[in-house]
Amino acid sequence: MSVMSFSIPRTIYYGEGALEKLSLLKGKKAALVTGGSSMKKFGFLDQAEALLKKAGISSILIDGVEPNPSVETVMRGAKEMLAFEPDWIVAIGGGSALDAAKVMWCFYEHPEISFESIIEPGSMPPLRNKARFIAIPSTSGTASEITAFSVITDTKSHIKYPIVSPDMVPDIAILDPNIPMTMPAHITANTGMDVMAHAVEAIASVAATSFTDPYAIEAMRLVLENLPTAYKEPKNIVAREKMHEASALAGMAFTNASLGLVHSMAHKVGGEFGVTHGLSNAILLPYVIAYNRKVSDKYAYAEKLLGIKDISVEIQRLNKEMDIPLTFKDCTEVDFSEEKFLAVLDRMSEHAFEDPCTLTNPGAPTVADVKMIFEAAYYGKAIK
Ligand code: NDP
Ligand code: MN
Repeated sequence: MSVMSFSIPRTIYYGEGALEKLSLLKGKKAALVTGGSSMKKFGFLDQAEALLKKAGISSILIDGVEPNPSVETVMRGAKEMLAFEPDWIVAIGGGSALDAAKVMWCFYEHPEISFESIIEPGSMPPLRNKARFIAIPSTSGTASEITAFSVITDTKSHIKYPIVSPDMVPDIAILDPNIPMTMPAHITANTGMDVMAHAVEAIASVAATSFTDPYAIEAMRLVLENLPTAYKEPKNIVAREKMHEASALAGMAFTNASLGLVHSMAHKVGGEFGVTHGLSNAILLPYVIAYNRKVSDKYAYAEKLLGIKDISVEIQRLNKEMDIPLTFKDCTEVDFSEEKFLAVLDRMSEHAFEDPCTLTNPGAPTVADVKMIFEAAYYGKAIK
């Protein structure tokens, strides 16, 4: 085996009240980055500001990061950072706020470079000459608080760019279950199934190792045991805490082992139909597992460790419990007409085949295989 690396945040604070750790920070100035209004509305932003003040740190607020953050938003934030000169960047919110803050950080450290120059994986210059980074997630799904990834959208070309750099792995992640507690039920369901997809794909990835498997297995166990409760009882702090931790653990696995066809295909269904990321993953998972099972013994390995018979059956049980349809045909979130599906099927299959996540899927799926899986997941057909 060639030389590999494993990177995660230096410190992860977790458990109820973990946000309080902000008051122990050493520094002078912080840029707080957040999304729309949720963190303000539920009081977490004010709490964070007060805790930083207690640490003797003055802060500015960079807010208004939109879902699927844009290059413009990133550049606006970097400019504000350049004027204020923070030594900490504190991102609090969903994956969108965290992702945007990571790339703002890059342009704060390197104002002379362009967005185009960081698109190639690994091309980002070193960070941490000016500031360090704290991530406080408010959703339990993307694991941006752990990962070396950020997804930024070019609004002119409508292209979503996955930016990859090990330097973007945050210094500190704070997992306080009080924060995701205010997520609405459908976001809990979709982001929770995204966690399952991260874990299942990291396990089956051709880049999976003994460093990544344990995190993925534990994440799967936590999702199976806690997601339906977090969905049905939004104020259940134990279920919220376990899901928040599952998300981070799955992140530790997939940021180092990468993903597979579920994500390749979900990215393209998202692009063509606008269907939510976690929802596409939830629908695709059983079909991709059925396809991959022919070439991978990793599902059997996970099932043995988890004491379950069939992970696909468990996933479909979760989907049913959370009112997630089992096929794209039955998905009412967007217009999934057969006519439109057939019209884009070939293009979508080619694009999914070319997605970087396909590279780590077990076996060597062809465009025809991807098309067959899309058809199975649309109509609910068995995988050949
Ligand atoms: P978003 O950050 O886009 O947030 C979705 C919505 O949920 C927003 O309206 C937000 O409101 C609201 N919200 C967030 N937290 C809460 C809360 N605790 N209570 C109530 N409402 C809340 O969602 P995700 O976390 O799913 O992130 C998606 C983004 O992450 C996408 O851009 C995706 O491409 C990216 N991504 C990044 C990965 C990575 O490794 N970096 C991996 C996978 C996806 P408001 O804006 O008002 O706060
Ligand atoms: Mn995902």
